Amino acid sequence: MSSLQPVRGTRDLIGDDMRRHRHVSDTARRVAALYGFEEWSTPIFEETAVFSRTLGETSDVVTKEMYTFADRGGDSITLRPEATASVCRALVTNGLTQALPQKVFYAGPMFRYERPQKGRYRQFHQIGLELIGPAEPLADAEVIACGWQILSELGLAPDVVLEINTLGDTESRAAYRAALVAYFTAHEASLSEDSRTRLVRNPLRILDSKDEGDRRIVANAPTIGAHLTPEAARFYDTVRAHLTTLGIPFVDNPRIVRGLDYYSHTAFEFVTTSLGAQGTVMAGGRYDGLVAEMGGPQTPAVGWAAGIERMAMLIAGAPAEPAPVAVIPAGDDAEAAAFALVQRLRGAGIRSEIGYRGNLRRRMERANRGGARAAVILGADEAARGIAQLKDLVTGAQREVALDDLVDALRVAPQGAVA
Ligand code: ATP
Ligand code: MG
Repeated sequence: MSSLQPVRGTRDLIGDDMRRHRHVSDTARRVAALYGFEEWSTPIFEETAVFSRTLGETSDVVTKEMYTFADRGGDSITLRPEATASVCRALVTNGLTQALPQKVFYAGPMFRYERPQKGRYRQFHQIGLELIGPAEPLADAEVIACGWQILSELGLAPDVVLEINTLGDTESRAAYRAALVAYFTAHEASLSEDSRTRLVRNPLRILDSKDEGDRRIVANAPTIGAHLTPEAARFYDTVRAHLTTLGIPFVDNPRIVRGLDYYSHTAFEFVTTSLGAQGTVMAGGRYDGLVAEMGGPQTPAVGWAAGIERMAMLIAGAPAEPAPVAVIPAGDDAEAAAFALVQRLRGAGIRSEIGYRGNLRRRMERANRGGARAAVILGADEAARGIAQLKDLVTGAQREVALDDLVDALRVAPQGAVA
């Protein structure tokens, strides 16, 4: 029988992969809490309409990338390709639209049927923030600042560049759309088939095309600047002024449009040149129209999502767990006492292990190989006398310690030698 393989585009997170992954999500969760964001967890599948109605029927995600299936009851279900739509759905269905602001953090798996490559998977993981309620540019700057702090605490500040743009308000976007239609229509023959469809249904999307030929045409396309209403221009200026005040470096990139339909005003990406074509680490913007699309009242909101795998690849490493203490019974008749002792150490918050088999020498070897910082050797008669041998595996020094003093003797700085 052939052995079973993971589904294409999925991966197991084991060892260093998982430690990196956890370090990214733990750091993000901790920093987000400093800003007052609270974690939500929404289901990983939703009614298909949650995504198809809100991400825009013409977006790449909806037309090509969704994992959609009929369940046994015949309902159309989709594995979530992103969480913003889910969070807005949850805001409405939990009756929270009048309890604003809501500051939401999430972390979890997302699913997109894409061509797998480095930094691009079919099951991947995102962390994200949604700040729902405030219409003020201060909120845009705050979510960017939180993202920047997370990236900085992960050591990624030198690797990423913040690129920002504005998509303006509805009026600005309508004027810009007309200018784009005029420009791309003049180049229609050279556009990719996808972009010719976008030209009719959502011309802004062409700016986001990854097709080489499209990119050459996009390079000379008009930018939104000239089409901004004074209010939209002021909004954008205020966001940038806040970033400057906070010392967060950024560059204007008029080509940034978010892939999804519900964005307005600020759009931004933290990008890196270290991951090839998968250069966007964190991406977000303002989406004032989405909650209303979900059947709630008109509600301003701004947020971002970031790919955990991409950040996990960029970080130097994950912090190591503190080295364990190995408890070693000297003889089979000491096993029960050793097991009780290791449980006592764990209860006192000391990372410790007990070997499952082998004589004293073999267990000592295994403790050394396992990176233990100390060994506690316990024989039956020593246990009866209330003592054990404590061996520092860093210095090799060994001494007798009363079992009652053991916790204190072992309670030292994580990587340090025993006291
Ligand atoms: P890309 O342009 O790389 O396809 P996107 O615009 O589709 O990205 P978003 O929908 O904005 O991405 O998702 C936010 C972040 O999630 C991305 O910046 C990236 O870090 C991560 N991400 C998106 N799709 C994938 C994927 N298939 N595999 C791994 N990470 C992903
Ligand atoms: Mg994509």
